[in-house]
Amino acid sequence: MEELICIDCQTRYPADQPRWRCDCGGLLDLIFEPVFDLQRIKNRPPNMWRYAEALPLTNPHPVSLGESLTALLPVELGGKTAWIKQDHLFPSGSYKDRGAAVMINKARELGIRSVVEDSSGNAGCAVAAYCAASGIDCEIFVPASTSPGKLAQIRMYGARLNLVPGSREDTSQAVWKAAQTNFYASHIWNPYFFHGTKTWAFEVCEQLGWRAPDSIVIPAGHGTLLLGAYIGFTELLQAGITQKIPRIIAVQAANCAPLYTAYKAGREQPLPVQSEHTLAEGIAIAVPTRGKQILKAVRSSQGQFLAVSEEDILAALKEMSTKGFYIEPTSAAIIAGLKQYLQTSQSDELVVSVFTGHGLKSTEKMLKIVEK
Ligand SMILES: *Cc1c(COP(=O)(O)O)cnc(C)c1O
Ligand SMILES: [Zn+2]
Repeated sequence: MEELICIDCQTRYPADQPRWRCDCGGLLDLIFEPVFDLQRIKNRPPNMWRYAEALPLTNPHPVSLGESLTALLPVELGGKTAWIKQDHLFPSGSYKDRGAAVMINKARELGIRSVVEDSSGNAGCAVAAYCAASGIDCEIFVPASTSPGKLAQIRMYGARLNLVPGSREDTSQAVWKAAQTNFYASHIWNPYFFHGTKTWAFEVCEQLGWRAPDSIVIPAGHGTLLLGAYIGFTELLQAGITQKIPRIIAVQAANCAPLYTAYKAGREQPLPVQSEHTLAEGIAIAVPTRGKQILKAVRSSQGQFLAVSEEDILAALKEMSTKGFYIEPTSAAIIAGLKQYLQTSQSDELVVSVFTGHGLKSTEKMLKIVEK
């Protein structure tokens, strides 16, 4: 039976009750025993539900929008090849669907009728999409500066949208009020979200013949893919299916880099930073709630943090587009990090990265870029 556990005081709570944080205010993780039956997995349809026994859900018929296994494609960059997972091709246009699919199905199992969520955009889109598919009432809070394409998407799914002036942190404050009376379907606080994003690691390993890559280059804003991937790789290692945890190469925008700064300074907690505007709106997180966990995961994997400049983000965006990959600017920041990392990687190193969000989300930014 799964349980929630506080990462600060280790208090445990039953997982059959809606709860988003510990009574002490701490973050909750999930204690859960996954099962992997490789033969059964292989014979199932190519989507994330093929790992059913490794997901913390009991309903054998989860609400699905057709989350296909995403392709893992070789892409040549500066003379080296990396493998890039095409997660911008998910139903709502970002990998956040992995997390929202598991979290909202869990909410459904708990009998929840109405949720609130805050987001810099794509998590709101994903949660709104799965709530629409599940008939759950949904209210989303976003910073007023969020891309219009994402706002339109959230509203089209039928969610109520609240635009909050100011920073991403002001948006978090606003949702906390709403979370007093409503289920907080948070992609940051709710541990079920990470047990959805962990399927990224399962797919990568399965596509490599049940082998873990040497390194993964992955975004670090709130770390919802990074920490999920870390859980996924750890579960496979503990089940004896793979032999190691890949080095986690975590990418931040130099204009908003509290984790990179803390890593360089040898700190355990994110450092306060003066954040400046960045093209990478989706990872511009000045105060990462799970920052301590992210720093710990990256260090224990023998990985590192990288910071990328605005020029490098723009160059990566243009380079990917001219290869036929249409990704949003935030997603290009990770590719800028990948290019930086490949300059120092070993020639035989197996490096995997990800396209996190679709370019069609950011049409107004793209128009500005092409018209320049
Ligand atoms: C959410 C998101 C990320 C990564 O964000 P985290 O805050 O680290 O979870 C990266 N790219 C895109 C497009 C996103 O939507
Ligand atoms: Zn606690």
